[in-house]
Amino acid sequence: MRSPSFNPPHRILMGPGPSDAHPRVLKAMASPLIGHLDPHFVGMMDEVKSMVQKTFLTKNHLTFVVSAPGSAGMETCLVNLLEPGDECIICINGVFGGRMVNIAERCGATVHKVETPWGEVTKVTQIKKALKQCPKPKLVALVHAETSTGARQPLEKISDLVHEAGSLLMVDAVTSYCGVPLKVDEWKIDAIYSGTQKCLSAPPGLSPVSFSKRAVKVLENRKTPVQSWFLDLSLVKNYWAGAKRTYHHTAPVSSVYALHEALSIVLEEGLENRWKRHQDVHKYLKKNLEEMGFEFIVKPANRLPNLNAVQLPKGIKDEAKLRRQLLDEFNIEVGGGLGAFAGKIWRIGIMGESCTSNHVNALVGALKQIL
Ligand SMILES: *Cc1c(COP(=O)(O)O)cnc(C)c1O
Repeated sequence: MRSPSFNPPHRILMGPGPSDAHPRVLKAMASPLIGHLDPHFVGMMDEVKSMVQKTFLTKNHLTFVVSAPGSAGMETCLVNLLEPGDECIICINGVFGGRMVNIAERCGATVHKVETPWGEVTKVTQIKKALKQCPKPKLVALVHAETSTGARQPLEKISDLVHEAGSLLMVDAVTSYCGVPLKVDEWKIDAIYSGTQKCLSAPPGLSPVSFSKRAVKVLENRKTPVQSWFLDLSLVKNYWAGAKRTYHHTAPVSSVYALHEALSIVLEEGLENRWKRHQDVHKYLKKNLEEMGFEFIVKPANRLPNLNAVQLPKGIKDEAKLRRQLLDEFNIEVGGGLGAFAGKIWRIGIMGESCTSNHVNALVGALKQIL
């Protein structure tokens, strides 16, 4: 008997990720497999590295892609930079700051938490205060685009404070990368990670990462081995060493094809054009949502264009039912709230390929019919 094949429905992805992938990216995944040490594959990985440097706006030599999703990029940064007994400052204004604390504590570090209400961003004065209590942390970590709340964290002033203290600045750029301005070298970010399934519009499962020279020095001066074998950069970095590449693990070959194509598409469009497109489509979405009675939870100055966190119009009791209706009847996925915001808000993503006025029209049209 023949086993049935799996035929996913054709969705319009407007949640917190994954976003829609370009047909060119999906086609790349259908290319024939080659060995991950094949000279053609190694050459392609070199191009991926160079395109990740261009999209992060960095010249960092230690720039690579972790063969696992964004959370593994987060873990890569923390397990490599922290050793038992180290102190660090982690800012929490949503789900993902909390995840960083969890990992850092598992590294044996002492974590000083800077907590801010959800929907807001960490202020410079809060960092100043934290640095008084913990003047020489190994690192200070923040989430640039908090996907659970839709808040965009300003980084430049905080970066200066962190470096004056002699610490490293670590940034989660999973949702901001290729969607809003992000300048790794200019903002002196020392350790950064992202994901592929948000504004890059590639399938989930890979995490672009980059370390500054300052961070590399910290790696070189470690006293203890990194607790994770898979994520230990002293081993991983040889895997990204071009022609000298040696076996570490088997790269997810087809996913790297997809990433290569997605990065090419970003560079063809141009980063600045891409940032502007997210801003423009956000404006159009915002106008339509507000007309229907949706309210944004983040104040305008800190609002992400690509992740729109909104309260539903008054009178709607069962948001989950409404989301299910959008999915079943209109093939549109939007996100519900996470953690403290569960059942209270929607998270409407317009990321990468999902950031078009057609997407907005489809969603708005569907909502008008349902409501
Ligand atoms: C999605 C996301 C992550 C986690 O990425 P995964 O690919 O789901 O592991 C981490 N941080 C932020 C801000 C995210 O939006």
